[in-house]
Amino acid sequence: MAWDFETDPDFQKKLDWMDEFVSREIEPLDLIFRGPADPFDPSLPGPTAAMAPLKKQVQERGLWACHLGPELGGQGYGQLKLGLMNEILGRSRFAPTVFGCQAPDTGNAEILARFGSPEQKQRYLQPLLAGEIASCYSMTEPQAGADPGQFTCRAVLEGNQWVINGEKWFASHADFSRFLLVVVVTNPDVPIHQGASILVVDRDTPGLEVVRNTAVGMREEPGSGVHGYLRFTDCRVPREAILGKPGQGFEVAQSRLGGGRIHHAMRTVGLLKRALDMMCERALSRRTKGELLADKQMTQEKIADSYIQITQFRLHVLYAAWLIDKHQAYTREVRREIAAVKAAMPGVLRDVVYRALHLHGSLGMSNETPLMGMWAMVPEMGIVDGPTEVHKVAVAKEVLRGREASTGLFPGYYLPNALQAVGDRFAGLLEREVGNL
Ligand SMILES: Cc1cc2nc3c(=O)[nH]c(=O)nc-3n(C[C@H](O)[C@H](O)[C@H](O)COP(=O)(O)OP(=O)(O)OC[C@H]3O[C@@H](n4cnc5c(N)ncnc54)[C@H](O)[C@@H]3O)c2cc1C
Repeated sequence: MAWDFETDPDFQKKLDWMDEFVSREIEPLDLIFRGPADPFDPSLPGPTAAMAPLKKQVQERGLWACHLGPELGGQGYGQLKLGLMNEILGRSRFAPTVFGCQAPDTGNAEILARFGSPEQKQRYLQPLLAGEIASCYSMTEPQAGADPGQFTCRAVLEGNQWVINGEKWFASHADFSRFLLVVVVTNPDVPIHQGASILVVDRDTPGLEVVRNTAVGMREEPGSGVHGYLRFTDCRVPREAILGKPGQGFEVAQSRLGGGRIHHAMRTVGLLKRALDMMCERALSRRTKGELLADKQMTQEKIADSYIQITQFRLHVLYAAWLIDKHQAYTREVRREIAAVKAAMPGVLRDVVYRALHLHGSLGMSNETPLMGMWAMVPEMGIVDGPTEVHKVAVAKEVLRGREASTGLFPGYYLPNALQAVGDRFAGLLEREVGNL
């Protein structure tokens, strides 16, 4: 009987060290370096220099790139432990990079490790794992995101080269990446799940143009964000630049998503806890009409509701992580729980951050607390990695799988029929009961 919600004491010590280290050493970087690319672009001298000694400490502690298996220099911790680590890392924009587990590099490394040739591993994977370069995963197109069936960016084999033509959209970190993993249509005559492939494209390949960068939210000047609008015009890469076989693109891509979504969800738990901390500090500090906000029942309700939602969400994420570790595969059951967690995430964030904002009054609306920054993440969480609706559809299909329609006019639980069935089966019992009256 193994229902256990405790963290093993040795690992807890590591988490305690991380907790302290993130608060003391990394969170200050979030205040000092606030440019959109600061934690992610290794060519920026200031943030890169500030992170270097911190990365070294993480490596010395054996906590660098823990999502990797031991064969790639990681710990092979599994998703539950990674989830608990990401809960701490979620408090800071810089922390995932300092710990060598920043998306999309983590997922890209997983793909290269599984499908890359020895040359590709040496050229791209090694410097990526060492945190020396950034990478990009480019799938979404301007006219199509959630529906891959509408992708049109094509790659055609000409001699020993793939020739790419088309456009991509919201390709995070494309501008400063050393290489991009690009999803292209290689066979338009079959459904996209059999006709797409993934190519490794060096950032400086002729024919690859960053038309414009895009930012999330309103603060940045147009053109200043980290999400690239890309155009490929007769962009040529070698025949061997393909990962997996032609047409295998979606299968290859699947290997990057599962764990990544759990880490993202646990980083969101870290953010949610931070919002709850702020809510509580405010409630215990602000007096109105002769009493603390914390003494008012409507404030208590906000705190209780937030605590309940965060705890439910956190346990659900950890349950999904535990399932992945148990099955060591992305089974249907595992995929259902990952989709459920992904679908729940924006709603919990919206509710908790809104309450925290509201309780801070005008200060909460201002640019002088982190709360409006958190608020801007609510819609992002519902879109990035696929819209909520798509994940809900996946959950519902799984929940409905194997269930059956009623065979008669009324449902199986229609009481008159149910009583009739019970009556027929237990007629003797019923007679005795009546006789005893
Ligand atoms: C911060 C951020 C970073 C990103 N980084 C990357 C990246 O690095 N690489 C990359 O390739 N992409 C990236 N994306 C793009 C992201 O994957 C897409 O935005 C997402 O898949 C949705 O596609 P879309 O924006 O085209 O929206 P659409 O597909 O147009 O969907 C818009 C809306 O239509 C509705 N809808 C869509 N499908 C359904 C459905 N089946 N049922 C019901 N309603 C539906 C939903 O309300 C949905 O929100 C990023 C996005 C964001 C916000």
